[in-house]
Amino acid sequence: MSTKETTLEEIVSLAKRRGFVYPGSEIYGGLAGTFDYGPLGVALKNNVKNLWWKMFVTDREDMYGVDAAILMNPKAWEASGHVGGFTDPLVDCLSCKKRQRVDQLVDEKQYKEVIKQVRERFLDTGSEDVKKQLEEKAVKYDDKEIDWLVIKELALKEVDLENYVGPHVQKFLNKLVSCPVCGKKEWGVPRKFNMMFKTYVGATEDENSVSYLRPETAGGMFVNFKNIIDSFHPKLPFGMAQIGKAFRNEIAPRDFVFRVREFEQMEVEYFVRPADWEKSFEEWQGTMHAFADAIGLPKAQVHELEVADGDRAHYSKRTIDFEFDYPFGRKELWGLAYRTDFDLKAHSETSKVDLNYLEDGEKAEDRFTPHVIEPSLGVDRTVLAILASAYTVDELGGEERSYLKLAPAIAPVRVAVFPLLKNKPELVAKAREIYMDLKKAGVACMFDDNGNIGKRYRRQDEIGTPHCVTIDFDTLGEHPEHKNTVTIRDRDTGAQERIAISELLEKLRS
Ligand code: ATP
Repeated sequence: MSTKETTLEEIVSLAKRRGFVYPGSEIYGGLAGTFDYGPLGVALKNNVKNLWWKMFVTDREDMYGVDAAILMNPKAWEASGHVGGFTDPLVDCLSCKKRQRVDQLVDEKQYKEVIKQVRERFLDTGSEDVKKQLEEKAVKYDDKEIDWLVIKELALKEVDLENYVGPHVQKFLNKLVSCPVCGKKEWGVPRKFNMMFKTYVGATEDENSVSYLRPETAGGMFVNFKNIIDSFHPKLPFGMAQIGKAFRNEIAPRDFVFRVREFEQMEVEYFVRPADWEKSFEEWQGTMHAFADAIGLPKAQVHELEVADGDRAHYSKRTIDFEFDYPFGRKELWGLAYRTDFDLKAHSETSKVDLNYLEDGEKAEDRFTPHVIEPSLGVDRTVLAILASAYTVDELGGEERSYLKLAPAIAPVRVAVFPLLKNKPELVAKAREIYMDLKKAGVACMFDDNGNIGKRYRRQDEIGTPHCVTIDFDTLGEHPEHKNTVTIRDRDTGAQERIAISELLEKLRS
């Protein structure tokens, strides 16, 4: 079965049943936008994070890892623009009272077409005559007519239109967009809503003690830029890296761990001379594709979206969204952005601390603010992409089976070890010995003696274990020529071969 046919329900059900991911606070009815990772989910996540850290940090000479506090001085979030601008446009359905994100509600193509026509008809055309003529014509999109009066009103507030807020956007929605819950077109006025979780630091709850849970890990790196320079004196280009939790009060968490309120990010802030940004951007773009390969994401399901001029953050000169074909459609997996010198400049201005860079031996007047390339990868969206693309249904031995075709480098269990029979102490003892030796050698290993071998294989297939090793009487020397050999079975083909115990480690590491 192709991955396209895999449904999100299948993934959610497998994840819960086999201990990858559970709904958060489940015995209390859950908490929307939160999930708890079980033993196999933790192992999978750790493998993803360790591989990322290896490829993005330790395999290189120019990277500095940090683990900054989640709570930060609120001034850091004022400087980065998050207090003022980290907002989502929201709208209430006046009929069913459900709240929705406007940018996810509208048909993006249609909305953009309207903005374009608004610009062409009312903002860029100088002549009153032309405007008058155009006003007579209704705007058309996909053969649906959009009342020119609506368009005209939208034009009066172009900024609100871009931000998806205000009474003009309300008119647009009332004309064209049905509520996905109740089907009515009775919308309130779309407004902005800050997505940061606010909290109070210390015993008093007043404006002076307000702080926020970080909405991205990047800030923790920018505020440590000077520390890294002072401790390590790195030469440009160099980068900082961090893996950690981020929190966003998403108004409509959805699609399992795709859009949640508490998630993990793996981020790099890579500092470059302004003239070198393109070279570094392309280099990180290549590293991100190499990482996608290493974790086993099929090339055909990973796509690049070059974010258009008008859609990027104002400080970004280039952004690529790495998108993935999830069971619910093509959606953002990771981001890569050229953030210019915006962050260091903003933190420098707000903190009054000089965050310029001067290379050893250069003159004081050569100080400048480095520019930044930021590869930003969400752990949870990565895990979901891995599960969705690995989920496979095929036929083996005349029976249908579902299994996870995980890359061995990230499989939570690398190998399972079975004694052929549970009630033969000599088999169990030998199997335990091999299991413990593999564990001590650092191989993620599981012992299973429950049920018949066929069932054990199915259980391991379902969690993506690449190999199963069985200890039988030949291992113990029933046929002397097979003494100290085991059978090793391949998850994808079901093929089995006999190998010497002494060759096991090498086989599993190849
Ligand atoms: P979206 O447009 O989907 O809300 P974004 O562009 O705001 O995402 P960024 O701010 O670029 O996301 O965050 C970097 C990465 O963090 C994303 O590419 C994604 O992998 C992850 N991420 C962001 N928001 C969430 C979330 N609510 N749940 C899970 N992962 C997230």
